[in-house]
Amino acid sequence: MSASLERGIHAFKEQIDAPVAAFFSSCVRCGLCAEACLFFTETGDPVYTPIHKLEPLRRVWQQEYTFWGRTAKALGLSRPVTDAELNKWEPLVYDSCTLCGRCSMVCPVGNDITYMIRKMREGMAVAGHAPEGLVSATRRAVTTGSPMGVKYPALQAQIRNVEQETGLSIPVDVTGADYLLLLSSMEIMNFPEFIGAIAKIFRKAGVSWTLSSQSFEATNSGIQIGVSDIAAELVQRIVDAAAKLQVKSIISPECGHAYTAIRWEGPNLVGKPFDFKVVHILELLDELRAQGRIKLGSKETQKLTYHDPCQIARRGGVVKQPRNLLDMVAENFVEMPEAGTMNWCCGAGGGVGTNERAAELRLKVFRRKQSQLNAVKPDALVSACSNCRIHLEEGLEEYGMEIPVLSLTETIAAHLE
Ligand code: SF4
Ligand code: SF4
Repeated sequence: MSASLERGIHAFKEQIDAPVAAFFSSCVRCGLCAEACLFFTETGDPVYTPIHKLEPLRRVWQQEYTFWGRTAKALGLSRPVTDAELNKWEPLVYDSCTLCGRCSMVCPVGNDITYMIRKMREGMAVAGHAPEGLVSATRRAVTTGSPMGVKYPALQAQIRNVEQETGLSIPVDVTGADYLLLLSSMEIMNFPEFIGAIAKIFRKAGVSWTLSSQSFEATNSGIQIGVSDIAAELVQRIVDAAAKLQVKSIISPECGHAYTAIRWEGPNLVGKPFDFKVVHILELLDELRAQGRIKLGSKETQKLTYHDPCQIARRGGVVKQPRNLLDMVAENFVEMPEAGTMNWCCGAGGGVGTNERAAELRLKVFRRKQSQLNAVKPDALVSACSNCRIHLEEGLEEYGMEIPVLSLTETIAAHLE
């Protein structure tokens, strides 16, 4: 057994906690999870059945933690997990799972398959079976602070452009501000207009906010690749910046997994509760709406529909807020079938978008989004995650669908009084 495989199997053993053991022992092999996963529904290939993606982890559980499995192992009657097997499973764990959580919603015995895939990635990464794209992104996140290698001077340049365009000044390193806004590298490089939209809305609503030059990145590659130590280090950088600036709250931007990372996994990763609140930008905008602090001068007349990012809606519970905001800003808002908590993933979350090897597959499974959109035929598609937005644009182009993709925050800013 190679040293990396040995470390990987050891990591699998460490990841098998009480919930994982309970989930494996309660699986009744009904196959319902397959019908919830777009990688299965759009390919028809049984290898994409969610519980099957966990087979090496299940075997380690069986051989190490069950009576009959241990007995069979002692008698040399069971097959140990091999490097070749992990190699075969790597695309199933990383390329064909967006950690979207849809399979966990339908399992009749309540198995959180997404939780287990996240755990399995911990062992796969240690065993050297993580995709190159994610390994490089994670390395850049540790060394430069951003998975795309975006350093503060690049953000400064975008801030200057936004300030020129909007005539508003963007606050940086303001001690004692109420809110610290995080950004994803994709927003900084691909959608800097998001920063301008925030500046406009917050100025009108009288929100005290700041960016941090020390820690502005919201995304967390450690979670996507499955290395908790790195994930914890990236969260700690944000905690340190919040403490230094003495802010009351942190805003997770239009990014799905960043919200999961900082809001739901963050305190567990750093081992203590935060001294500040974490809100998603849509939660804050909805609060401002409810307080009458967002005043619009016009409404969007195009027929709009909304793509719920998995980590924000299904995994994060932010479902009502975007609809309240869309009711405020849109004259003609229509829901896609299966919208909300059971929405279908765009196909690029959970690190799949960073994984070049998965490009063909993620475009293939975009057919599910195509059929959801064909059911309502919108003029424009609104979302609240820059990663979704990039893949939605790619998918729509691939399928020849001329539907612009809009940010909800930017749409609101465009209609301010
Ligand atoms: S839906 Fe649940 S019980 Fe059924 S096969 Fe999948 S994990 Fe097992
Ligand atoms: S989390 Fe989503 S993508 Fe991953 S196996 Fe479950 S349904 Fe499929």
